[in-house]
Amino acid sequence: MHPDFQRAHFLTAAAALAGTPPDQGREVAFAGRSNAGKSSALNALCHQHGLARTSKTPGRTQQLVFFEIDAERRLVDLPGYGFARVSVAVKQGWQRLMSHYLARRQSLRGLVIVMDIRHPLGESDRQMLTWGTAAELPMLLLLTKADKLGRGAIRQTEAQVRRAVGAGPIVVHAFSATSRLGLEQVQGHIASWLGLAGAPVASKPVQNMTRDPPRR
Ligand code: GDP
Repeated sequence: MHPDFQRAHFLTAAAALAGTPPDQGREVAFAGRSNAGKSSALNALCHQHGLARTSKTPGRTQQLVFFEIDAERRLVDLPGYGFARVSVAVKQGWQRLMSHYLARRQSLRGLVIVMDIRHPLGESDRQMLTWGTAAELPMLLLLTKADKLGRGAIRQTEAQVRRAVGAGPIVVHAFSATSRLGLEQVQGHIASWLGLAGAPVASKPVQNMTRDPPRR
C-alpha cells in the first residue's frame, strides 16, 4: 500500500486545454476505452471508493478530470473512448483534445492505458500509443480485470501485448481492481514517475520510465 495515493482528491475538470490547471509539477494520465475499468483502477490505486466515477454512459464525459495528490503531483482521468454511440464531431473533438494534451503538456510524466485484459489493443488504444510514442512518454499498459482469467491466460496475454508493442519505454502489467493483483507494482511505477519519496520497489524494471528533469 502506498499512502501518498490515498491523499488524491478532486482538483478540477476541463473540457479544453485552456481549462487545465497550471502546467507545472508532475502528472500521470489514465486513458482507456469506456468500460475498460479505468475508474475502478484509479479508485483501487488510490484506496478510495468514490474518487473516479465508475460505470458512466460511454462517451458521455468528454472532460479531463484532475486529481491532486499534493501541490506538485496530479493524476488525470482522460475521457473514455468507445465511439459506437457518439457523433463524428464528438470523436474528432476527443482526438483533437487528446493529441494536443499528450503533445503539449509539459508536466505529463507518464501515460497509463487501461485495457480489459480480454480485449487488449483496440483501435483507440493503438491511437493513444501512437500519440504517446510521438510525445516520447513512458507508458504503462494496464491489463485490467485479470481476475477474469486464469494465471496461464494472464501470462499469455501479457506476453502477446509485449510482443505487439515491441521494445521501448512501455511496460505491460496485468491488474485487477477486484483482486488487487498488480496493485503494488503499478503504484510503484506511477510513484516513480511522480517522484514520490519512498516509492515501493517495482518488481519489473523501471529504467527509461522516470523523466527527470522535465522532458522539454
Ligand atoms: P471505466 O468506464 O473504464 O471507468 O470502467 P469502470 O471502472 O466503470 O468499470 C466498468 C465495469 O467493469 C464495472 O462494472 C466494474 O465493476 C467492472 N470492473 C472494473 N474493474 C474490474 C476488475 O478488475 N475486475 C472485474 N471483475 N470487474 C471490473
